[in-house]
Amino acid sequence: MENCIFCKITQKKLPSDVLFETDKMMVIADINPKAPHHFLIISKGHIETVNDLTEENKDLIAEMILVAKDMAHRMGIEKGYKLVFNVGRPGGQVIFHLHLHLLGGWHQETHEVHI
Ligand code: 5GP
Ligand code: ZN
Repeated sequence: MENCIFCKITQKKLPSDVLFETDKMMVIADINPKAPHHFLIISKGHIETVNDLTEENKDLIAEMILVAKDMAHRMGIEKGYKLVFNVGRPGGQVIFHLHLHLLGGWHQETHEVHI
């Protein structure tokens, strides 16, 4: 999709530090982190939002969550983290290309940030 920043990143038309990648997705650090650790699991295909997902995307979504879980372990934040899909503008979505936020790295035992 032309003019989509995440298409450009996943197609490597824009430089980014790729932390992990499969044929279906890519993991990069968020440019404006909202937590001590903030990663984005970005689908390689241009799907705008969770609302556009169908049965055909089951494997993709399962893989995105499993990759997020593996990244949480790799980054040492597996004790506590958030996985977030913002959906639509009222849901806080700014980039309309499917991505899963992995946020973590807080130190307290009891988490005080709620969404
Ligand atoms: P959304 O609000 O759409 O769910 O999240 C978009 C996220 O992408 C935001 O957290 C924002 O900081 C991040 N972001 C926007 N542009 C770039 C970029 O060019 N590179 C990276 N690594 N992250 C970006
Ligand atoms: Zn795109």
